[in-house]
Amino acid sequence: MNIPTRNMAMRKADPEKVIARYAELRNLERTGREFGITRERVRQIVNRAGISTGRQLKPKPERKTRLCKECGDPVASAHSLYCSTHRLEKHKRRYRAIKADPEKYAHWRDLLKKYDRRRKIRLQEQAEAAPA
Ligand SMILES: [Zn+2]
Repeated sequence: MNIPTRNMAMRKADPEKVIARYAELRNLERTGREFGITRERVRQIVNRAGISTGRQLKPKPERKTRLCKECGDPVASAHSLYCSTHRLEKHKRRYRAIKADPEKYAHWRDLLKKYDRRRKIRLQEQAEAAPA
């Protein structure tokens, strides 16, 4: 005789207490367990009182701002290591490696020169396109 016992418990649960407890716990399952009723019954009682049982989003913890490795200014995105001023030096590590062993990294130096040339051309084109 399981069902009558459960019904007794359901009748015993004071809706006001259930509502108050749910307001503290914000958890249908745990509230129901305390009163010996199902979480669906808790939801019915609570919803009847005009309280939403929908999921409540917790505020996200604030991300600490990333700082430029070079000057310590805050950077634009969550991924970048350098600020807008120092971002152009993203090949820093390569430059350093080239300086340490110019022969070994000669191909890197050539690549970086090529990139620099391309960037200059691109910036020129942008400067020409902007005023027009
Ligand atoms: Zn910087």
